[in-house]
Amino acid sequence: MSAKEIVVDAYINGEDFQTEEKITRENPSKPDEIVGYAPLNTREDTVRAIDAADAAFEGWSATPVEERINRMKRAVQKLKEATPEIAELLAREHGKPIYDAEGEIAVSLAWMERAADRAVDVLKDEVNEDENGRTITQYDPLGVVSAISPWNYPISLSTIKIAPAILAGNPIVIKPSPLAPLAVSKAIKIIAEEFPAGVVNLVNGEAEVGIELTSNPKIQKIAFTGGTETGKKIMKSAADTIKKITLELGGNDPAIILPDFDVNDEAAMRRLVISNFLTAGEICMIAKRIYVPRSMHDSFVEKYIEAANKWIRIGDPLDREVTTGPINNKAQKEYVEELVEDAQKNGAEVRKVGRILHEDLFDQGYYLQPTVVLGANQQDRIVEEEQFGPTVPIIPYEDEKEAIELANDSIFGLTSSVWGEEEHAIKVARQIEAGTTMINTAAVQGLDVRYAFGGVKQSGIGREYGDDGLRAYVSKHIINAPLNKDLEYIPE
Ligand code: NAD
Repeated sequence: MSAKEIVVDAYINGEDFQTEEKITRENPSKPDEIVGYAPLNTREDTVRAIDAADAAFEGWSATPVEERINRMKRAVQKLKEATPEIAELLAREHGKPIYDAEGEIAVSLAWMERAADRAVDVLKDEVNEDENGRTITQYDPLGVVSAISPWNYPISLSTIKIAPAILAGNPIVIKPSPLAPLAVSKAIKIIAEEFPAGVVNLVNGEAEVGIELTSNPKIQKIAFTGGTETGKKIMKSAADTIKKITLELGGNDPAIILPDFDVNDEAAMRRLVISNFLTAGEICMIAKRIYVPRSMHDSFVEKYIEAANKWIRIGDPLDREVTTGPINNKAQKEYVEELVEDAQKNGAEVRKVGRILHEDLFDQGYYLQPTVVLGANQQDRIVEEEQFGPTVPIIPYEDEKEAIELANDSIFGLTSSVWGEEEHAIKVARQIEAGTTMINTAAVQGLDVRYAFGGVKQSGIGREYGDDGLRAYVSKHIINAPLNKDLEYIPE
């Protein structure tokens, strides 16, 4: 092990927990370099973490919300101080550009603060007194929550669950993805240390850890972000003991370009291009299919490619000039290549875009030069499936009705975007089947943690962020003291 290699532990019941077997995380820019090791926890370790959380429930749920908030604010401060170190580690193990790693932590902090600021108002009793009597709505914590996060935004997609769960009085056990476990484990430990033992527990590992976290009878609620196929398994696993679930799953987000979009609007074109290729396209909520009026297809493509060549710079994620790093892992790289080749076989034209800044790394790492795919059909895999990589098809449409039909022609419904004159774009947006539709922006650029986020159709169940994101971790308990306590229609 070299001095630069990082070792993170699990964190169970307020203590570090080591394992013999480790997950080895390589640097996707230079796969021969090991970034560090995370524990490979077992199902037994996971049961231990769940039991610790269960034991903490009574005390934590009885802790005044003001104390939970104060602890959360201290955790925010500690994580903020650690940002430079954690962001660099995240960029190295994940492959995302350093400023996107910093941005991910900034979004996490913004949400943790927002959730803390809203907790009193959202979780307080609602009392109604009228001629019928008195009714109190009390928001009860649910019990032990399990959280499972994916590799693409490991820190923000973990804190999105941890903050509301514990503010609402629920201890949590969280499992990040083995494909980016290091920075997130450090971040979670920093947060966990601000809370009593057993309130925040961290385990790492493969699917079997996730299976325990979604089947153990002591778990009351599962908060999952990841692929739709895994989401289906989790839903089945949750059914046996009727666990509450929030599922944030895959997306295949359409972007509709309206005829009144100005292809010469450089700022808007840059926004679209950046949203497509930031983090090498490994974002659930980016435009994965662009629909353009047939009459402006060629001028749009020309300007889009021009912008991509100007703004997209591929290379070492630690170089602040770089907008697009390597793909996180080899299997994902091969999958994206397969989709592009399939489109090519079906007659599509593939244009490479962006500038490669570090040729030496490009050849050894899991890099893919971003591509724009022209002439693909709606039924091609590159259009139907979620690419999760630096490639995007641009597809012509005849009229607005067809654009909306094509956009909605998907099993997914996470986010979407409409580009053009604002009022016109809003009118079109209302007809799209999605959890969020952004106007003249897309992806993380248009994310606002004050509002609910989540999908329709096979993109998920439930919402994170916003007040809904807090309410997802409580149940409504109605305490009803009516004046008239008898059913009048039952004869005496
Ligand atoms: P994945 O489904 O392969 O893995 C996600 C997590 O689930 C990992 O921690 C994994 O170890 C765990 N897991 C795997 N099998 C499991 C099982 N049977 N039971 C319980 N846990 C199990 O997803 P991924 O490849 O890490 O992430 C990419 C996917 O996540 C994409 O589809 C992307 O769109 C989606 N995503 C969605 C959102 C959103 O907010 N909707 C955000 C980010 C990513």
